Amino acid sequence: MNRKLFVTTALPYANGPFHIGHVMEYIQADTWVRLQRMLGHEVHFVCADDAHGAPIMIAAEKAGQTPQDFVAGVAAGRKPYLDGFHIAFDHWHSTDAPENHALAQDIYRALRANGLIDQRPVEQFFDPQKGMFLPDRFIKGECPNCGAKDQYGDNCENCGAVYAPTDLLNPVSALTGATPVLKTSEHFFFKLSDPRCVAFLDEWTQDGRLQPEVANKVREWFKRKPDENGDGQASLADWDISRDAPYFGIEIPDAPGKYFYVWLDAPVGYLAALKAWLDKIGVDFDGYLADPAVEQVHFIGKDIVTFHTLFWPAMLKFSGRKTPDRIYVHGHLTVSGTKMSKSRGTGISPLRYLELGLDADWLRYYMAAKLNARVEDLDFNPEDFVARVNSDLVGKFINIASRAAGFLSKRFRCRLSSDLGVEGRALLDGLRAHGESVRNHLDEREFGKALREVMLLADRVNAYVDQHKPWELAKRPDMDAALHDVCSVCIEAFRVLMVYLKPVLPALALKVEAFLQIQPLQWADAQRSLGAHTIGEYGHLMQRVDPAKLAALFELPAGGEAPAAVAQSSTPAMGPSGTPAMGPGGEAIATEITITDFAKVDLRIARIVAAQAVQGSKKLLCLTLDVGEGLDARGQPRHRNVFSGIAAHYTPEQLVGKLTVMVANLAPRKMKFGISEGMVLAASHADEKAEPGVFVLEPFAGAEPGLRVR
Ligand SMILES: [Zn+2]
Repeated sequence: MNRKLFVTTALPYANGPFHIGHVMEYIQADTWVRLQRMLGHEVHFVCADDAHGAPIMIAAEKAGQTPQDFVAGVAAGRKPYLDGFHIAFDHWHSTDAPENHALAQDIYRALRANGLIDQRPVEQFFDPQKGMFLPDRFIKGECPNCGAKDQYGDNCENCGAVYAPTDLLNPVSALTGATPVLKTSEHFFFKLSDPRCVAFLDEWTQDGRLQPEVANKVREWFKRKPDENGDGQASLADWDISRDAPYFGIEIPDAPGKYFYVWLDAPVGYLAALKAWLDKIGVDFDGYLADPAVEQVHFIGKDIVTFHTLFWPAMLKFSGRKTPDRIYVHGHLTVSGTKMSKSRGTGISPLRYLELGLDADWLRYYMAAKLNARVEDLDFNPEDFVARVNSDLVGKFINIASRAAGFLSKRFRCRLSSDLGVEGRALLDGLRAHGESVRNHLDEREFGKALREVMLLADRVNAYVDQHKPWELAKRPDMDAALHDVCSVCIEAFRVLMVYLKPVLPALALKVEAFLQIQPLQWADAQRSLGAHTIGEYGHLMQRVDPAKLAALFELPAGGEAPAAVAQSSTPAMGPSGTPAMGPGGEAIATEITITDFAKVDLRIARIVAAQAVQGSKKLLCLTLDVGEGLDARGQPRHRNVFSGIAAHYTPEQLVGKLTVMVANLAPRKMKFGISEGMVLAASHADEKAEPGVFVLEPFAGAEPGLRVR
C-alpha cells in the first residue's frame, strides 16, 4: 500500500533571509518526508517564496528595486540554508510565478460562480501624498489605550492592546509622515458567512484531521448564537480579499485596479509549486490531484492556523478542488526559555551555525529529540544540546561502531561473521522488533519518542559489548570466533539503528553507507542481515560538540562589528549591481539634512547607573542614566529615567556601569509604566527582528557622562 503524498511547509515571506524558526519547520517536515521515502511511498515535497503584499512593495521601493527583482534577490539567498541543513525539497517556487497567477484567478472565478464573492465599500486610511491605502503596519500614532506614541496601526507594543488603525490618536503615515485621511473603496469579500461555508468548515475542522488542540481552538472561532435547542447556530465573518492599487500582487479578474490580498494567493502557491514541479517531471497536475489516494499535507506554525483551517480549505472546497488531508501545526522556537518572536534571528543565526563548523545533523537530531505531535514550543538550550549530542548521539550510538570496527579491520579483513552467536542474534531480533514502533512514532511526528526508543536500544547494544568485552577476547587466541561474532553483532546493530535514525540524520547516514559499503538504507533493510559482508575501513563519522564553539553561536558581536558570518547572513541577497538588495541595513539612507538640523538633536554621553526589567513588558528595560547633570534640589544626583525597547537583546547586568549615548533634549514621554526622559541610541537592521540584532552604542574609553556628541 504505497501512499501518495503532497507535502509542503509554510511559505516564507520573501522580505528577508530565513531565521532559525524556518529551519526548525523545514527539519520537521524534511524528517517526516525522508521517513515516507524510506518506506517506499511517493512524495512530492515543495515550497515557495511568498512574494506579494504591501511590505515587500514598500521595501523594494526603498531599495530602489522592482518588487520582482527584490524577491528574486531574496530567493537567491535560500540555497545555502536548504543545502546546509539537508532540507530536500523537490522544488522551490514563487507565488509571483505565472502558475500562481493563473491558479489564484481560477479559484476566484469558481468562488464567484458559486455565489461566494461579495462586494461592499470599506472605509480605510489613505495616504494623500503617496496616493495609496495604508496597510495597518504603515500607520503610526498614539495608542488609544495607554497613549504611547509611535505605535503601529494594529497593536500597541507598549501595552499590547489590539485595535483598528482608525482608533489611533493623531495617526500619521509611516511612509510619508502625512496625516492619513479616511477614504472609501469597494472591497471584495469571500463570503465565509455563507451557510454552506460554515456547515462545511464546522464539519471539516472537527472530523479528526486536525490535532485535537487545534480543532478545539478553531471551534472557538465559530460564533454560536444559542437557539431553542441550546445547540447554537455557528457563524463566521466574511473575509476581505482585495487591496487597491498600487499593490504588488495578482490582479482580480474583471476588477481593474484591484488585487488579491497576499493571504489569498499565498496558499495557492502550494498548488503552483506542485504544478511547476509536476510539469518539470512530466506528471499531469490535474490528474494527480484528482487521484483520491493523494494525501495533501501542510506543515505550519501555530501563528497561521486561521488561514489554513478556515480560508484555505473553504477556498479549495468551493472552487471544486481537493482539500488538505492534514495540517500539522507546530509551536514556536524559544532560546533558553526566551521567546524568539521579539528577537527573531538574534538568538541563533542558521548561517552562522554552519559557518562555525557546527554539524547540521546535530541540530536536526536535537530538534527531533524535542519535537512531538502537539503544538508545543520547542526550547533551544545550549547545555541540553551538548548533552544530547555528546552523550546520546555520539556516546551511545556512534560509539557502537567505533568499538567494533578496529578489531574487524585488524583481525578479520573487514569481513563480518555470518553466525553472530545465539545472544547476538537475540539482541538483533530485539532491535528489529522495535522497528514498527519507531516507525509509527516518526510517522506520527512523535520524533522525541522515536529517538528515546532508539537510544534505549543503543543502551542494550552497549550493555552487550560491556558484557562480552571484545578488548579481552582479543587477547585470547582461542576466542577468535567469539570476537568476530561480537564485533559483527555491533556492526549489524549499528546498521539497524542507523535505519531508524536515517530520516533525522541524512548526512551521517551517507557516511555510514559508505563505511559499510552498502546501498542507500531503506526502512525494510533493518529487518535483513548483511551476512558475510565486507565493510570498509572505519573513518571518522561524527565529532562531539565543542561547547566553546556552540557558545560562539550565542555571542553578541562586540562593538557593533558583526562577525563575517553574521554580516553575511543579514545580507540575504545582492542586487544585480552588487548592492545589497534592501539598501545598507535594510533601508535606504534618509533624506539629506543640514548641520543646523543635526544640531537640534542634543546627544550626550550617559552612564547607565541602573537597569531593570519592566513588570508587564517583555520589550522594555527601565534605565537610570547619569548625564552629568549634578544634584537636584534635595541634594540627590539628578538622573534620567528612560524606557528602552531592548529587553529582548540585553539583560540588565550587561548594561549597568556602561557608558552610552542618549538623546537628552527629547520631550518627556508618558508611557504606561512611567515617564521616559530621553532615548538611548542603538543600531539595528530596519527590521529590528532581523539579524544581527540590536546593539546599544558605547563610546571609546575615556568619555564621561555629560559630554556632547557632535
Ligand atoms: Zn498602548
